[in-house]
Amino acid sequence: MKITFIVPAIGKKPEQKYIGTWKMEPLTYGTLSALTPNEIEIDLYDDRIELIDYDIDTDLVVLSVETYTAKRAYAIAQRFRERQIPVVLGGYHVTLCPEEASLYSDCIVIGNAEGVWEQLLSDLKLGQLQKAYQGQAFYQRKCVDRSLYQGKKYLPITLVETGRGCCHDCDFCAITHYYHTYHKRDIDLIIGDLAASPHKHVFLVDDNLMADKANAKALFKAMIPLGIKWAGQGTLAMAKDPELLNLMKKSGCELMLIGFESLEQDNLKQMNKSFNLTLGEQNELVKRIHDAGIGIYATFVFGYDHDTLATIENTVRFAKKHNFYTAAFNHLLPFPGTPLYTRLLEQKRLIYDKWWLADDYTYGELAFVPKLMPAERLSTMCRQARKEFASFPTVLKRGLHAMQRSSPLMWGVFWAMNLRLGEEIDEKMNVPLGRNLDEFPK
Ligand code: SF4
Repeated sequence: MKITFIVPAIGKKPEQKYIGTWKMEPLTYGTLSALTPNEIEIDLYDDRIELIDYDIDTDLVVLSVETYTAKRAYAIAQRFRERQIPVVLGGYHVTLCPEEASLYSDCIVIGNAEGVWEQLLSDLKLGQLQKAYQGQAFYQRKCVDRSLYQGKKYLPITLVETGRGCCHDCDFCAITHYYHTYHKRDIDLIIGDLAASPHKHVFLVDDNLMADKANAKALFKAMIPLGIKWAGQGTLAMAKDPELLNLMKKSGCELMLIGFESLEQDNLKQMNKSFNLTLGEQNELVKRIHDAGIGIYATFVFGYDHDTLATIENTVRFAKKHNFYTAAFNHLLPFPGTPLYTRLLEQKRLIYDKWWLADDYTYGELAFVPKLMPAERLSTMCRQARKEFASFPTVLKRGLHAMQRSSPLMWGVFWAMNLRLGEEIDEKMNVPLGRNLDEFPK
């Protein structure tokens, strides 16, 4: 028996073969591969970096779906279903929109696949694939199988999961509404994955590494002997704990993605991220993280009800003042299943009910009406903020600061990432979600 994993891209312009930006290995498929019995053959197509062979001989196609990739995943599924090849869809978008995903597949997996994956494969063998499988609460008994990434052009960075979910409840966050709480992973399994990593640089993919601080400290202590360099994601709260910062640095932390989201207190209250307010002065917290020798990838979001043009300008000034390693200036996007989505729907402020399936929705476009400025203006301002932050003089100044805290590889990554930032913004902007009309004629 053979199964085919496919990583869907967000979409492609008609003239594009695929979107040529740097890509990381798709961790979900390595996790599923580890759970798959050895006698089953597996192959992997990554729609982001290579062409899919729609004529391939296979017994099952499996796609993990995010909201951004849903439309394209459904179009890919259709091509295989036309050949009577069953298609399974899973991933967080499927859990948040199971009825929708059912329309485009033979079978869906709701929640985590661990605990039902083996059952699904054995049902397939018997020709008794069910319409839906309800995954278990998070547990992971095995290390990731990375053999299926061989020969693919991924960045030389290993992705490792230390847990899933988050202890907070930000109103825009699809992840926390998928997992509801934080589930930590066994430290022995994490160390096993790290020790088997083919690269010395690792990205710890959890949305909030510090969701359980005591566990995070135990993990970082166990990581010290490995001598790796790593980046991860967390909240500004890490700056309040000197012991944590010290252990992070000792275990090889070089860069943390931190969701500042907004510098406006009223916005933080509205998004239910008030814990950022209670932490104290942001300038001081940033300084503590930088003083610990850790760079910051800062993310900001615009479109909450108290945002004005001045908010965006102040935020860019703040990001430039602190010479962040890099930063993202995103407009708010209502993901299905979140309180934000429900609020905007009730207030009749959604431009598209389902932007992820809308025919004319393109990447970078707003899907709702902001309160204090027109939607197009906000979209343009976000793009200008990114461009200003990626301008050559700014990159040069930030690069000199990054040199003080980065290993040679991370300093190289800084230039690769930041010098292409402006170009990447242009490449991705206005990509129609889902369809390359040449590939999927109507
Ligand atoms: S802190 Fe981050 S991961 Fe946690 S709920 Fe908020 S946005 Fe989501």
